[in-house]
Amino acid sequence: MRWKKLSKLRCIAKQFLISFKVGGGKKIFLWYDIWHPEGCLFDKFGFRTIYDAGRSIGPKVSSIIRDNNWYWPSARSENLVLIQSRLPEISLGGENVPIWRSSSGKYSCSQTWEHLRPKFSVVEWHNLVWFSLAIPRHAFILWLVFRDALVPKEKLCSWGFTGSSLCLSCFACQESRDHLYFCCSFGRRVWRNIMADCCVYNPPIEWSSIGSWSAECWKSRNLQATICKLCFGATIYYLWRHRNDLLHGNVPRSEEKLIQQIKWDVRSRLVARYSAKICVIEEPSAGAEMESATDFEII
Ligand SMILES: [Zn+2]
Repeated sequence: MRWKKLSKLRCIAKQFLISFKVGGGKKIFLWYDIWHPEGCLFDKFGFRTIYDAGRSIGPKVSSIIRDNNWYWPSARSENLVLIQSRLPEISLGGENVPIWRSSSGKYSCSQTWEHLRPKFSVVEWHNLVWFSLAIPRHAFILWLVFRDALVPKEKLCSWGFTGSSLCLSCFACQESRDHLYFCCSFGRRVWRNIMADCCVYNPPIEWSSIGSWSAECWKSRNLQATICKLCFGATIYYLWRHRNDLLHGNVPRSEEKLIQQIKWDVRSRLVARYSAKICVIEEPSAGAEMESATDFEII
């Protein structure tokens, strides 16, 4: 069953990845494999050319080679003239060798993926989401936010949801991405508090400018930029969790506990990387006191 599925991918591989060095041509299909400069002859010229050539659909390339020379009967159509005119470009002799269309001519997972994957323009915020120390669950939610793929109540209402669309943190505005990050008074306080711990004061609160601002400010790979990016992702993640707790009737964290949890996540990540240089920390418990705002510092 798996082989059947794999065999259905042959057309993709044939089109993008494999060509053949002809050699003797005994293992290469005349009409269906890519051995000619014009590509797959059947795909390009169709049944009519096979008919004009007076051949069946199944012969190998070796059927038109004799004594290491091309031996093709006189052309009876323009397509056959074109096919035959380019035969001298193909060298004969040696082995039949499949060639991957990569810079090296050999199979490579990375180059195959580069051939096959859809390509899009690079977004300015990619370094904020994907970097070596990024916490996967934070990065995933941050990516959804940048793609506007989360579903706040404003979007639910546009899909027919009939409940209230007000933000459950402040009950002052509709719950939307821009409101959650960080027009909402609750989210704004958390954001500014966390940024102040990173020595970033008065960060933007409009989502439309946060992406370009943070991508420009934190484009360096130094530790401070890394901490800022970790804090950014953690803030986005825990504000979304706070919203979900409110929506689903769970007991939400207080503002202080939320800030403490964000800092704990960031420091845990840093400890994992720089364990010998950062003080030992404990996971915040329900009764834990809020820790110092300078706990990100390396000692
Ligand atoms: Zn709000």
